[in-house]
Amino acid sequence: MITILLLLKLLFMSVSTTTVAAAMTSATDTTAVFKLPELPYEMSALEPYMSEETLRYHYGKHHQAYLNNVNRMVAGTRYEREPLEEIVRESDGALLNNAAQVLNHNIYFLTLAPEVAAKHEPEGALAAAIKRDFGSFDAMKVQLAKMATSLFGSGWVWLAENKNGNLVILSESNAGNPIRHGLTPLLGIDVWEHAYYIDYRNDRARSIDQLWNIIDWRVVEERYGKR
Ligand code: MN
Repeated sequence: MITILLLLKLLFMSVSTTTVAAAMTSATDTTAVFKLPELPYEMSALEPYMSEETLRYHYGKHHQAYLNNVNRMVAGTRYEREPLEEIVRESDGALLNNAAQVLNHNIYFLTLAPEVAAKHEPEGALAAAIKRDFGSFDAMKVQLAKMATSLFGSGWVWLAENKNGNLVILSESNAGNPIRHGLTPLLGIDVWEHAYYIDYRNDRARSIDQLWNIIDWRVVEERYGKR
């Protein structure tokens, strides 16, 4: 009787493990420590500036893969109970790279919105800070675009806020995130080839030029001043 129960239990466990493994590839997995953010738009909603195919690969495969790596690496460690931001502040090596890429992409995808829904220019305190620190909104966009096109290889260009509320633009290779420098990330532009190659091939400059159409400055405004 005990043997039969044990066999049934083992059988059930193996079925559960398979189910969990399958669920790990889904954004709605309820067992993983970290989950992908639900996107507040349809996969085709950012067209024609960002195709459904790009989103399916970038969010559905790349972002998901970084997330799966983090969940695998934190299992059974103290990081399992820490917020993602803390992991990015404290870890190093492969865990840092993957955790930072999850955080970077969370910020990136949640900054985007369909063209008709996006707020195309900041207002209020953020708009005032941009004018103060860069001269104008357009001058800031030019600086961001210039940094993004001149970054060699893979990386991110960030608009971030320092402890005094001043804005800075920084260029980071690979998975770099401003929180490693004590800054608050407001807007991140992904310049890895996987972010634009399907839609723009090697034309990174044009991909950034088009990205402005789907950046929602309402989201960036909400991040500003939260330090
Ligand atoms: Mn990416």
